[in-house]
Amino acid sequence: MTNDEKIYLFDGKRQILIVDDEMINRELLGNLLKDDYELLFAGDGGEAIDKIKQNKDALSLVLLDLIMPGINGLEVLKQIKNDPQLKNLPVIVLTSDHQSEVESLNIGASDFIPKPYPEKSVIMARINRSIELSEDRMIINATECDPLTELFNREFFYSYAEQFDAHHKSVETDAAVVNIDHFHTINERFGTDYGDMVLRLVASKLLEYNIEAGGIVCRSEADKFLVYCPHGTDFADMLETVSNDVNSRMESNNRIRLRIGVYEKVDRSMPVERRFDRANMACDAVKNGISGNIGIYNSTIHEKELFDEQLIEDFRKAIEDKQFKIYYQPKYNVHGDKPVLTSAEALVRWDHPTLGFISPTVFIPLFESNGLIQTLDNYVWNEAAKQINEWETKYNTSFPVSVNISRVDMYDPQLVETFKSIVEKNGISYDELLLEITESSYTEDADQIIKVVKDLRELGFKIEMDDFGTGYSSLNMISELPIDVLKLDMQFIRQAFSNRKDTKLIEIIIEIAEYLSAAVVAEGVETEEQVSSLKEIGCDIIQGYYFSKPVPPEEFEKFLKEKVNADCR
Ligand code: C2E
Ligand code: CA
Ligand code: CA
Repeated sequence: MTNDEKIYLFDGKRQILIVDDEMINRELLGNLLKDDYELLFAGDGGEAIDKIKQNKDALSLVLLDLIMPGINGLEVLKQIKNDPQLKNLPVIVLTSDHQSEVESLNIGASDFIPKPYPEKSVIMARINRSIELSEDRMIINATECDPLTELFNREFFYSYAEQFDAHHKSVETDAAVVNIDHFHTINERFGTDYGDMVLRLVASKLLEYNIEAGGIVCRSEADKFLVYCPHGTDFADMLETVSNDVNSRMESNNRIRLRIGVYEKVDRSMPVERRFDRANMACDAVKNGISGNIGIYNSTIHEKELFDEQLIEDFRKAIEDKQFKIYYQPKYNVHGDKPVLTSAEALVRWDHPTLGFISPTVFIPLFESNGLIQTLDNYVWNEAAKQINEWETKYNTSFPVSVNISRVDMYDPQLVETFKSIVEKNGISYDELLLEITESSYTEDADQIIKVVKDLRELGFKIEMDDFGTGYSSLNMISELPIDVLKLDMQFIRQAFSNRKDTKLIEIIIEIAEYLSAAVVAEGVETEEQVSSLKEIGCDIIQGYYFSKPVPPEEFEKFLKEKVNADCR
């Protein structure tokens, strides 16, 4: 390193690059600034660009002479401002020419220092101000943006939407939510790096489209994008343009499909967040893709929204007043000549004071989406445990009951403790409370779930994997699963006994279960024909309307009495 290039190194000081072709000028500025800054020097435009690139993370400012042989100062400035990685670096130009001052400020210089140099305090003030401004902007950028896609983050997006409203009082606006169909399978099949690439592509194309259409865009979470734009925007065209653009960059078998939910002509008295809740509901309504990929918030969805709101509002009181009723559906072992009652599944219903009996298929997904499910499930588990104890005392026989564990429950760090205390409090044993965990929770975060399940099994709980065949477990994962029972999803029974009567799939699943030393339960079994075929194929336990619908506990006792009588004989 020549003395001329000497870097004055002082810890913690901001780094400045001085670019000037005349050594005397470099030394002059260097002497003025060396006590306060860490300095780098360049004697021409080419050297300047190299040094900027090498030190882009440490550099705080460039002092740039405009008139140099070769690549001149304006050219260097243009290169900096056109490079996305460098464009935020502040540049102060050094010039004696008034005309080029203006030109350089227009290209993006932060400020200028005239030649001959003014006194030190003026130079220092200008340098400090430029550095401060740029650092402030960097902090704002970091908090406003989603780091992956560089779109606004949700919070800032909401506040920009409010600003948009304030500035466009007479423009009607639409709130829209854009989602990628089956995004999790993209991540699973090709890895998260690939998934991130897809998200960035979708983000940049959506942004490009909306800059043109006058809308604003953000990524709110995972694969969910929010768009706020003037009413009249052509959403079909937006989806088509964006997905065509993205798909043209991918191989034909990796194509993505987008869906969108729109809340049109938003009610401006409603908080921005609520407007996007509505768009989201409209988006969920087209999740299955059967009715196209554009959902519009309408009166049907609006009624559902009001209904859901009422259920949420009524929830606390319903728990207090014991409006949730547990029904029990018997499961029969079909190995022998006669089916033998082995256990029951506890299924919850809501006996609502004004809405009547409500099916769990209506309120479980709702409570799963807002966390209330944990309270409800805890209630059901306790009631079931109490019931097991009651029947044990009354009929002098151990009778296991299975309860459903929601996906959300599996992430509760207290789960194992909760079950332990339920069992202890109700004086039952661990193997009397069977735990049904749906297969799809296993595929979501396999490692976490498997750990919880292992802990539960160690205590003595028996685990039934519910809805098996719908969660797309990999064969690899299945072989590691700590489970005692595979519960075949109802749709397999439906399919197997449809017109083309083909039980091949069920046979394969039974083989998998044998390999895992797990018993197989078939649920949703309705006919004699289904029972005999399933029995033939090797299914162990059957649950379904063929034996009984889920019934209230008083009614269930007839099955228990039958069993006790049969056992006596
Ligand atoms: P699931 O766990 O797969 O429960 C089986 C469902 O199939 C029950 O519906 C049951 O009534 C129904 N079913 C049983 N046999 C037959 C049959 O032969 N034919 C037909 N068509 N259906 C049959 P249900 O009670 O409406 O429950 C629906 C779902 O709600 C359950 O599916 C479960 O995922 C959830 N659920 C019910 N109770 C609870 C609970 O306490 N906690 C949680 N987290 N989820 C619950
Ligand atoms: Ca179940
Ligand atoms: Ca099931």
